[in-house]
Parts: sequence; C-alpha cells; structure tokens
Amino acid sequence: GSTTSGTQQTRIVAGTAPGFQPFEMIQDGELVGFDIDLLEAVVEQADGYTLQGWEQYEFGSLIQALTTDKIDTIAAGMTITEKRKESIGFTNPYWDANQALLVREGSSFQPQSLEDLAGHKVGAQSGTTGEGLIQDLIDEGTLAESNYNAYPKYPLAVSDLENGNIDAVVIDTPVAETFVDSRDVVVSATVDTGEQYGFGVRQNDGDLESALNGGLEAVRDNGTYADLTKKWFAS
Ligand code: GLN
Repeated sequence: GSTTSGTQQTRIVAGTAPGFQPFEMIQDGELVGFDIDLLEAVVEQADGYTLQGWEQYEFGSLIQALTTDKIDTIAAGMTITEKRKESIGFTNPYWDANQALLVREGSSFQPQSLEDLAGHKVGAQSGTTGEGLIQDLIDEGTLAESNYNAYPKYPLAVSDLENGNIDAVVIDTPVAETFVDSRDVVVSATVDTGEQYGFGVRQNDGDLESALNGGLEAVRDNGTYADLTKKWFAS
C-alpha cells in the first residue's frame, strides 16, 4: 500500500501482468513495455506521487491485488468496463483496442465472426474481455464449455494455437499484431468492441485518480505520449 514520506510525496506501487506485448513483457530479464514507460512518465508528472516500483501478477489477479492494497494502481492494458467499475476505479482512457481472432498460419479455419468459433477449440487469457466474449458464446449455447481453454498468460494460448491444441485465440488487436510478427499465427478477423484502456485505482483513491489524470494530460501535452507510441508501436 501507499506510504507518505516526509517530503509530502506519496509512494505508490504499480501492478502489471507481463506477456501482453508491447504493453508489458519481460525482455532480457527486465520488465519493459509501453504501459511501463507510460505510467512511469505519468507518475513523474502527477502531483504528490512517486513510483516506488512494480509488482507482477497474473492478469486475473490484478484487481484483487489492488482492492487488498498490495498495489496502488494497475497498468496492464486493462479495458475500462462497467463490470470492473463495480469494484475499482479507472483513470481517463489512454489507448483504444478491439478484439482479434488469431489462427494458425496456413490454417484452413478462417473464422470471420465470433459465431464462426462454434464447434472449434478456442483459447483466451483468464479474466480478460476476450474471455468474456467466449463466455457469452457459451452462455448463449453457441460454443460448448469444453471447447474453451483458459490460460494464465496469452503467450501460452498462442503456443497451444501453434501446436494445434486449439484452433483460435481471442485477444486484443494491438497484442495480436505483435504475435503475428513473432509467431506462426495470423489474424482472420477483428471484432469491433470499442475498448479503452485505463489505469486502475481503488474506488476510494480519488486523489491518485486525479493526479494520474493530470499526469496523462501532461505527457500528452509535452510530447512524451507521442514519443512512447513511436517507440513501442512503430513497425
Ligand atoms: N484489454 C483486455 C482486458 O482488459 C486484455 C488485457 C490483458 O490481457 N492484459 O481484459
């Protein structure tokens, strides 16, 4: 949890879930990525706060880590949803995303919609909005529950896709593109979900939320946001 030092700076701990490139990943043993650079720049511009460090969790455990004070903010490509807003707060949005259907390179299975996944083995990362779409298919009887494999990390789902253990992965568009570049997979279609990423904060931490929103505005104004976009998304 946060602690206040003598200089009136509140030190905060950020939580993330590597394996979601280029937002957060481990490279040469180091935690790096767009979210890492962005949050660090944002906190530097946020009045009254300094970043003490990063804690790594599985994506599906981040909200609980936040609400139980293990961390003070989440920077993990997390979509702002009404469901999540029942338990946590979010800053203003900092990134837009949709969902992609990822299939094996050269595969004859080329789903064009979520409904096309019927009768096939599908994977996603636990606790994500992609999993939520698959859950909707299961709830409406389009997909058998036994045809869904949940993974703690997206890279494991992509490995199972390459191996032929599953036929498709539902995953955020920007991250899908990174796997297309680095693995034997392609995007067969995108699903327009209109998601927006925000940094997660505790509902009772309006001070931090305001400070981070101020920091976000500052990094957009001073060019850092554009520089980081170029650094992590230039192809
Ligand atoms: N944006 C998606 C979500 O919020 C996936 C995030 C992630 O896997 N890191 O559920």
